Amino acid sequence: MSVEKIEVLVVGAGQAGLAMSGHLGQRGVPHLVLERSRIAERWRSERWDGLVANGPAWHDCYPGLEFPGYDPDAFVPKEKIADSFVAYAEKIKAPIRCGVEVKSVRKNEGRPGFRVETSQGAIEANFVIAATGAFQKPIIPALVPGSTGIMQIHSTAYRNPGQLPAGAVLVVGAGSSGAQIAEELMRAGRRVYLSVGPHDRPPRRYRGRDFCWWLGVLGKWDAAAPAEGREHTTIAVSGADGGKTVDFRNLAASGMTLVGRTEKFKDGVMHFAADLARNVAQGDANYLSVLDEADAFVARNGLDLAEEPEARLIGPDPACMTNPIREVNLADAGITAIIWATGFSSDYGWLQVDAFDAKGKPKHQRGVSSEPGIYFLGLPWLSRRGSSFIWGVWHDAKYLADHITTQRGYLAYKGPQENRTGNRQ
Ligand SMILES: Cc1cc2nc3c(=O)[nH]c(=O)nc-3n(C[C@H](O)[C@H](O)[C@H](O)COP(=O)(O)OP(=O)(O)OC[C@H]3O[C@@H](n4cnc5c(N)ncnc54)[C@H](O)[C@@H]3O)c2cc1C
Repeated sequence: MSVEKIEVLVVGAGQAGLAMSGHLGQRGVPHLVLERSRIAERWRSERWDGLVANGPAWHDCYPGLEFPGYDPDAFVPKEKIADSFVAYAEKIKAPIRCGVEVKSVRKNEGRPGFRVETSQGAIEANFVIAATGAFQKPIIPALVPGSTGIMQIHSTAYRNPGQLPAGAVLVVGAGSSGAQIAEELMRAGRRVYLSVGPHDRPPRRYRGRDFCWWLGVLGKWDAAAPAEGREHTTIAVSGADGGKTVDFRNLAASGMTLVGRTEKFKDGVMHFAADLARNVAQGDANYLSVLDEADAFVARNGLDLAEEPEARLIGPDPACMTNPIREVNLADAGITAIIWATGFSSDYGWLQVDAFDAKGKPKHQRGVSSEPGIYFLGLPWLSRRGSSFIWGVWHDAKYLADHITTQRGYLAYKGPQENRTGNRQ
């Protein structure tokens, strides 16, 4: 039986797969994008109803991606972001097949390329790009048994406050998702406990510029790795309500109960680390450091950006910081739901090639994997801090498209001992 052959196979039609298709198309490289669901599916079905982009439209985009009807400084709602990716795919005539899942990719033995098994038959490809997302498998720590009767969902399954049973809610994790979901619930009249771990929380705006701009001019989006001695730290930012700085002190002053990192659950009681004050203080330090660097940048370049001394005012420590709550009996507190905004792990079970280390982490340099012909795209810190964001993935996709073009050039080369029709002499 003949097998379909394609030069480059891109797996996944999110922003990464589309950016890849854009760059390959520009270079005339034959390719196919397979998407198991719909274009930009995660923006539609794995995000809460009220989510808007974390960055303004002028920043959270790539060339050719447009948000009709939105001001460049607006924060685009997630459905509109998905619509824009669909429109982009149509505009560039991306060769996408939706509803086709890639089940496995294996190296061909003794000859170039890969055999790809899909839900709709086999394909052979010379190059395969894994663009299946940075945020693949929701992580829910196995702390609270299902038998407690408390509703437990990951932030990807949260839609809106009405979905939760009446009662108080514990939100675990205070990155961009946890902090925004917790505030939405509090505004809907819920009593909310928020478990806050280490985080960065840059100012939404300072001296008239959005933090996306500041991180850009200060070179922070381009940082190749997390700061010395620090693991990747979640950034707590929000585009909600026209965009505002995430301020945990303000949230506490508005009635939210903050607790430290969630440690364990025993006999109906959730236990929290004694690190709340430290985590909030580190977030404040990060906030102030961006202001300092921004001020220095303004001074060095003589920019005409009005000073904003009030941005340096940090509110008082709320009672939950000075007198930390280390234990909460969930039933006594009326907690009927836990939302785990605790991040994601990857799932590359389908990619059965020599491109992973002993812990299953992709082995790659700027997305070029240790298995020639296999590429990763869209991962956090793939080449820089911006790599997993809409605008950042564009640059990484360009690099991979250039790499593939170069490799195709090598593979097409005929040496002097071969005639140029491909026969050995
Ligand atoms: C809550 C949240 C908010 C975010 N907000 C922003 C923001 O405001 N701005 C920003 O720049 N970034 C944001 N991000 C980060 C990033 O932009 C998104 O996570 C984005 O969806 C990642 O795009 P991607 O193309 O890399 O992966 P995904 O969007 O995850 O796309 C991967 C695609 O691959 C498909 N797929 C997976 N496995 C297979 C398979 N085996 N076969 C075929 N298809 C497969 C999936 O169905 C999916 O459609 C946010 C992330 C989260 C979690």
